[in-house]
Parts: sequence; structure tokens; C-alpha cells
Amino acid sequence: MPDESLKTLRGLVPPLRVKPGTTVKLPHDFDPAYTAKFRDREHAQTALAVGVDLLSDLQPKLAAQERFALLVVLQGMDAAGKDSTIKHVMSGLNPQGVAVHSFKVPSTQELLHDYLWRYGRELPSRGMIGIYNRSHYEEVLVVRVHPENLALQHLPPPGKRDVWGERFNEINNWERYLVDNGIEVLKLFLNVSKEEQRRRFLERLDNPEKTWKFTLADVRERRYWDEYQHAYSEMLSHTSTEWAPWHVIPADHKWFARLAAAASVLDALERLRPRYPRRVSIPKAELERARAELETE
Ligand code: AMP
Ligand code: MG
Repeated sequence: MPDESLKTLRGLVPPLRVKPGTTVKLPHDFDPAYTAKFRDREHAQTALAVGVDLLSDLQPKLAAQERFALLVVLQGMDAAGKDSTIKHVMSGLNPQGVAVHSFKVPSTQELLHDYLWRYGRELPSRGMIGIYNRSHYEEVLVVRVHPENLALQHLPPPGKRDVWGERFNEINNWERYLVDNGIEVLKLFLNVSKEEQRRRFLERLDNPEKTWKFTLADVRERRYWDEYQHAYSEMLSHTSTEWAPWHVIPADHKWFARLAAAASVLDALERLRPRYPRRVSIPKAELERARAELETE
């Protein structure tokens, strides 16, 4: 029943949101295995289909209107399911209106710029949906867990500065600027448990079709699990704002992560209320002349 599904979809989002100003402590505060009222993949399928369908109805309006853009920021540990979430949630969309960008280790050139520079260059233009697969948040995650990254950034001497506190402020202000300019910022943290990550890594090793995804860096980073949980907790506590709140997407069940991510994207797009623009720029008489010309051809 589509109407019922729509209500369910909308209801999924508010509990995932991190209330601005709250202090988050992972892993205690959010259960990676949460599935709301959904029992299993089959149960979630109808709701996901409805969500993807609605997204494909809203996207052309966003594109035609050329007023707003949506930036979806995806963060999560390795094997949290960032790639498959993008694939499933965006499956019904017109590829011309979507731009996915994956941020990797910064290049020498990028390191010579201020730290937000490379993220500003890939922002979606009006009408587009941009997806950041990893994002400016790595600047307070991997860079914080491995401060040697900071040493490569050609920064002015730090003195007594609180680098992370400053970055949280700068990022919040930057996002405020984006939202004020019509770029809606939707932030999704795919919250996977340590045990589920282990299972997924082992599956990558066992399944020859998945082994290509496995890197030695994955196991190396896993050793820093607690440091990452701390960095993520800090990020959620300091950068969930009224204008760009974080959504914690429970990611131990991939089928639920997809559903929750789709519901969040739908929620963000609906808030923009995209509509097809009226052709007000062409006087009615001109339109009628054009019609007459075509009809008498
Ligand atoms: P993957 O997303 O698995 O393809 O890997 C991308 C790698 O790039 C990850 O290991 C990230 O930690 C790393 N990375 C992304 N952004 C940054 C950054 N700003 N500084 C350092 N490493 C980064
Ligand atoms: Mg990886």
C-alpha cells in the first residue's frame, strides 16, 4: 500500500537525526543493527520501491527549476556500505542530474590549498544532486586519527590553537553558507559495528568477486577502531546543526541502510519543494504564435 509506505518512510527519518547540541558517544548511543519496524529485506522492499519512485518524480523538477541543489554527504568506516547505498538509492534517478565524487588521499597539489578547497570544487550546481563518497569530514576523521596527515597540509604554526574545534566551526559556517545559497546539505553517517565490519572483510577475502575491494590498509585502519569511534562521536556532537543535521544510518543490515538513506534523501528533497517552473519569460501571445506555426506546418 503506497500511502502507508510513504508514511512509514517519512517516519523513519526523525529518529535518525542527531539533535544539535547533544553529545554523542559511539558505540553506545546508536544501535548499528536497528531496523525500526522492519523485519527483513522483503518487508522493506515495498517501502524502498516507493521511496525510489518518489525520488525519480522529484529529481526532474529540481533539475528544471535550477534553483536548489542537494549535496548528500556520505561518511562511514570501510565496508560500511557507502558504495552500495549510492547504487541502490540513486537507481531511479536520471544520471544527468547526479554527480558522485569519491574523495581519496589528497594529492600534492590539493595539499597546497586550504583544506576545504577540493570539496568546494565538486559542489553540485543548481538543479543537481551531488554525492560526496567521503567528504570534508575526513579532515576531522582520518586526519585526526592520523595527525601525520595534518603535518602534510602546509598549515601555519598551530601555537595553542584547538585545530579540531576550529575545523568544526569552519565546517559549520561553510555549510551554513551553502544552505543560505540554496545548496541543501544532507549528512549521512553509515554506522556499522566492529563485528559486522569483520564479517564483511572476511567475505571480501573469501569471495573472489569481492577480493578486489580488500586492501591491507583496511585491516590497518581497523586497528584504530576506537580512535575512529571517538573522532566520529566528536564530529556528530559538534557538527550536527539546525541547517545541516547529521543522520545516523544503522548499517549492519544493508537492506535497512538503503531504506533509511532513501528516506533521508526523499525527506531532504521534499523540503526543497521542487516544482516545474512556469514559462513566464515568454509572453503568452508568443507561445500561441509558436503553437500556430507548428500546427500549420
Ligand atoms: P576508499 O574510500 O576506501 O576508496 O579509500 C579512500 C582513502 O582515502 C581512505 O583510506 C581515506 O581515509 C583516505 N582519505 C580520504 N580523504 C582523506 C583526507 N582528507 N586525508 C587523508 N586521507 C584521506
Ligand atoms: Mg576502502
